[in-house]
Amino acid sequence: MCGIFAVSGSEQAAAEIYMGLMHLQHRGQDACGITTCDTASGEVYRLKDVGLVSEVLTEARIAELKGNIGIGQTRYPTVGTGDRREVQPFFIKRPDGIGMAFNGNVVNYPLLKQKLKEERVYLTSNSDAEVLLQIFADEYEKRNGTEGIFSAVKKVYDEVIGGYAVVTVIANKGILAFKDPNGIRPLAMGEKEANGKKNYAFASESIALSMQGYTNIRDLKPGEAVLAENTGEIHSRQLEYEKAAPCVFEWVYFSTVESVIEGKPVYDVRKKLGKFLAQKIKREMPELQADLVMPVPDTSRPAASALANELGLPLEEGLIKNRYIGRTFIMPIQKTRENAVNLKLKPIESVIRGKNIVVVDDSIVRGTTSKRIVKLLKGSGANKVYFVSTFPPIISPCYYGIDFQRSEELIASGRTIEEIEKEIGADKVIYMDVEGLHEALGTKELCTACVTKNYPTSTKHAAALTELREQHIAQITGKC
Ligand code: SF4
Repeated sequence: MCGIFAVSGSEQAAAEIYMGLMHLQHRGQDACGITTCDTASGEVYRLKDVGLVSEVLTEARIAELKGNIGIGQTRYPTVGTGDRREVQPFFIKRPDGIGMAFNGNVVNYPLLKQKLKEERVYLTSNSDAEVLLQIFADEYEKRNGTEGIFSAVKKVYDEVIGGYAVVTVIANKGILAFKDPNGIRPLAMGEKEANGKKNYAFASESIALSMQGYTNIRDLKPGEAVLAENTGEIHSRQLEYEKAAPCVFEWVYFSTVESVIEGKPVYDVRKKLGKFLAQKIKREMPELQADLVMPVPDTSRPAASALANELGLPLEEGLIKNRYIGRTFIMPIQKTRENAVNLKLKPIESVIRGKNIVVVDDSIVRGTTSKRIVKLLKGSGANKVYFVSTFPPIISPCYYGIDFQRSEELIASGRTIEEIEKEIGADKVIYMDVEGLHEALGTKELCTACVTKNYPTSTKHAAALTELREQHIAQITGKC
């Protein structure tokens, strides 16, 4: 999972991209980068490295990135190994000079990589984004111009299976943004007036646009490509018409609570999830005796507050987050993840001791965090711990950019609720159900594959993809 941002027509493209990436930092903390172009001179400027946005993109370095159009990315690795070779945006010198940044995952990456190898195309990384760039550039070179750009996007749609949102800077042309045919990964666009001209920007989440004065914000449609030309003209085409399947996990966990996706505020959706769960508890477990509701900070706070309200219980903060520790779920290696969980949350014993606690978390993925939370609460004197997840049991891998690609690593895969309760040490585990997700979102047009096994795309190459990823992780951890 990553955050991407692009801007066209800005006086200070790099500064805007920097601000955009700061608002998207929660989507990936492993590396970041910016590519800009000065359309007057045709010069391209690039900066990228491993590290947080504030570490890599310092003020002095940003000042060196001249140009009025550009793209940026903050990255969490799913296929690449997380080393410097995989840091985005990628850049190709011809035709025209194309920079590309990507959020998502290419399911048939191993096949496409092999195909490029047979065509004697040299790749510099293990990133699926580079493969996508090669396919795009190869087709664009054949036709050039505006039609060439849309034909290159169509070629990507024809060849690449997966969930992806892409932003591209094409040196002599402008900014291009497009979304996979099912619209699995989010991408929004906005516009603003500056010096009598319209500027356009694109971002993984609406907050990165609205905080910079962009208005008329809308999500790109599935299979839609938008080109903001250097001339100020804008072209939009829907090149594919698959069934819409935006990732439901974006509302539940991944996106920041201030964002709006597909017209549905993340905050409102999380409140609805909490209310739905409270109604489920009242309906199915009227005997449940609880003293208070406690959120696992920060994602689950709106759901916990709605749940407490509906159950008529006090909402208490008994777990305090160490603000200097990143989100544990998006750390790429289990060992790093476990160490971070141990540092991440601290209990307030006076709130916890002797109480029956309904603790609310956004989801239970591997069970690492949940187990640790139950242990912390019980170790601080909790009488009973009822663990509530605002997401249904995750039973199947995600092949579209969220980092759980093997069933074996998922605590709910092949286990009953009672077994999960035992495994994490909770007195009860209460899960959201798929109907509740549909109700909270007001639609069934969603990707829910990790909880239903109904994948919106072919998963024919998924096993090969997982194998390749395992090899890369073994490289990082030295287990090969
Ligand atoms: S499989 Fe799950 S996490 Fe992955 S895109 Fe679909 S809903 Fe989102």
